[in-house]
Amino acid sequence: MIKLHDKYFKPFISAKEIDAAMQRMANDIADDIGDEIPVFVGILNGSFMVVSDFVKKYPKPCEVTFIKLASYEGVKSTEDIQRLIGLTQDLTGRTVVILEDIIDTGNTLAEVHRIFKNEEVKSLKIATLFYKPEAYKKDFKLHYIGIEIPNKFIVGYGLDYNGLGRNIPEVYQIKETQFMTNLVLFGPPGAGKGTQAEFLKDKYNLVHISTGDVFRFNIKNETALGMLAKSYMDKGALVPDQVTIDMLNAEVEKNSGAKGFIFDGFPRTNAQAEALDKLLESKDSSINAMVALEVDDEILVERLIGRGKTSGRADDADESIIRNRIKEYYDKTAILKDYYSAQNKYYGVDGVGSIEDITVRLSGVIDKL
Ligand code: 5GP
Ligand code: MG
Repeated sequence: MIKLHDKYFKPFISAKEIDAAMQRMANDIADDIGDEIPVFVGILNGSFMVVSDFVKKYPKPCEVTFIKLASYEGVKSTEDIQRLIGLTQDLTGRTVVILEDIIDTGNTLAEVHRIFKNEEVKSLKIATLFYKPEAYKKDFKLHYIGIEIPNKFIVGYGLDYNGLGRNIPEVYQIKETQFMTNLVLFGPPGAGKGTQAEFLKDKYNLVHISTGDVFRFNIKNETALGMLAKSYMDKGALVPDQVTIDMLNAEVEKNSGAKGFIFDGFPRTNAQAEALDKLLESKDSSINAMVALEVDDEILVERLIGRGKTSGRADDADESIIRNRIKEYYDKTAILKDYYSAQNKYYGVDGVGSIEDITVRLSGVIDKL
């Protein structure tokens, strides 16, 4: 990830992919033009890198010139195109190929066509490295397109954000979600996870996603995913990860303005952790930390037996059941501890003490993220 001025950008198209697209364009154009000597016209500023790399790949003699137009302010295309440097040579009877870095709305291209309207060139072809089909509003034919991209702001390889980023050899895409704090909350039964999740949710303005609750909600409301999950559960089979991920995705999308999420009860396996990473990546985000409440087994047993006496929860009453649940927790989460430790994202927090003490310890971790 990189930061230019106030905005963050993530890697999008590698230098190698750009090189391959440029090579393809150079070959296609050379094949079409044959032995004639074309004039390549770059549109400054953005196309300087495209033109430079393109003509090095062009296998035959050619001429190069530039015109200079300006249209962009910040991250928005404007209607008002300024002609800063026009054509400085006579192109009558010549085969001209416009070399653009990017075609977005097509406003700049319209200005190029205006410039060439009165020039009696033999032919005028348009080549662009990047093209945003969803943004394009004109009818001018684009003869050569390197890479089609979605309608999101990019920088690098000649393209700038308010002056910066032109010198980067690869292309970065703007991060739409600029900042989220996403936590995976873990803790053995009796560690006080529920209590602490409530607190973190309020203090950091996060959305608490408990997989158990999400399942119950979807099944109760008979959503398509809920019914699908239920069909597995009724057969006594495990619900496939993809179904769970789809449900979580729906939750995340429902809360698209959130400052972040607390994932509770998920992931349970490496495959699920990877799936969660992918889900968040698609939202331009990631897991910042796995926070695990650490409590000694004997204290947990004591707490749960105490809770069983008042709550009447059958699984909280029997010591051997309790010990089994705790063991199962460690067996299952050890892998995840490794998964997140490998990315330096594992934070163990001492879960023994008063609720307030533990809260302070958790805040200490989150504030530093
Ligand atoms: P159009 O006139 O087609 O809307 O936009 C063309 C010009 O806008 C390009 O030459 C470029 O200067 C700028 N532009 C369009 N899209 C982007 C983008 O995603 N990133 C950057 N940095 N500039 C863009
Ligand atoms: Mg340009």
